[in-house]
Amino acid sequence: MLESALTNRVFGSVFLLNREELFPTVRLAEAGFSYHMQTKGVPYLSHPFARMWKSKAKAHPLEVVTYVDRLRQKEAEGLIKQMQDSTLDSLRDEFMMAGLKVIKDNSILKGLVDAPAIINRPELRKNVKDYSGVNFTSAKPHVTTMMQTMLTGGAKKALNRMMMDADILIDAMGIDLLRLKIAMATAARTLKSLEIRRVKETELRGLILALIDCGLLRQSRNMFIWCDRCDEWGVVASIVSVLPPSKLPPYCPACGRVAFAMGVFRPLPPLIDAIQFPDGLLGAAIGWHFKMNGVRFDHGVDVGGEECDFITRGSRRTVLFECKMNFVLSAEDSMRATLLENRKQLVRHINLAKAIGVKLTAAACVLNLRRDQLRGLAPGLKPESDPEYNRLGGMLVSYEDFPKCVQKLC
Ligand SMILES: [Zn+2]
Repeated sequence: MLESALTNRVFGSVFLLNREELFPTVRLAEAGFSYHMQTKGVPYLSHPFARMWKSKAKAHPLEVVTYVDRLRQKEAEGLIKQMQDSTLDSLRDEFMMAGLKVIKDNSILKGLVDAPAIINRPELRKNVKDYSGVNFTSAKPHVTTMMQTMLTGGAKKALNRMMMDADILIDAMGIDLLRLKIAMATAARTLKSLEIRRVKETELRGLILALIDCGLLRQSRNMFIWCDRCDEWGVVASIVSVLPPSKLPPYCPACGRVAFAMGVFRPLPPLIDAIQFPDGLLGAAIGWHFKMNGVRFDHGVDVGGEECDFITRGSRRTVLFECKMNFVLSAEDSMRATLLENRKQLVRHINLAKAIGVKLTAAACVLNLRRDQLRGLAPGLKPESDPEYNRLGGMLVSYEDFPKCVQKLC
């Protein structure tokens, strides 16, 4: 797997992204609330993205989900209004506001609410652990008001009555709609990176199916499927069960034809472990490549207070390799500025290594940029003037050229 990050064009293009670009935080807005959520996977899209949104039916099947949801929201609003009319309105309101806001602010709790299992104490503790990861900020003012109200008595009965209608309130939070939005946001963002990294949608689909097959990706949350060819409104379903690659794309449960499907797939170990390394998947792939090719190396070498990523030690050659997971989807100017920073650090490490007596024969900074993208940016960079850098033929190199570079330099 690690070697394919360097040698498989599609795998490298999709996964050799800075963590924040691979799993971006997206802003979602819903019924006046807006909140941020980190995406956790890559999208599976059964068909070309653009085609999936052109619907033959009167309303897009996915709009039907949205529509039903709004009705429930109205019902919930009515419920809240009713409570306001009652004597213990403030307690109910505060409790509900605190609860809904905390659930809304915390994806762990949202997941728990929507999971098919009954919510019990062990399940809760497994998810929230010591609550240190749960953000209660938005609930605090409501809890203070509740405490004051509780002291006035009669609260127990009111709480019980309110929980009788909990299903409507949970529905009103729009869990399915929210999941759909996360999947859409994940898809939109990934498609942008595919465009820049020059990967076709069919290639992404093939990669995802292959990674599911070898157990490196797993369906995360619901798979949305829809068909707009049968019935007036089409058919839409949200499937919680994990669908194997052989069942993708799934068939429409109503007419039996191939349906559209969209879902998010989460990386599993060892893929996710490699992504979470300090230097990300690139650092892991570089180390692995050295190992596989019998290149002796040290990792994280201290050169007078600063750390070099890799120094390889051959019988006659000693090469410094830095590796950088840059943002590759941003504007060219800011990418050039980052490249200059990368080079500046390489120059500094070359000279620090020299100062402590390491006799380098070459130095390179390996980047997660594709060869073409780096070539496009390079003419805009002013040449490096450091003599030691130039003597060693220092360079910025794309991960795609790294294996060749190792052959040549090490
Ligand atoms: Zn159908």
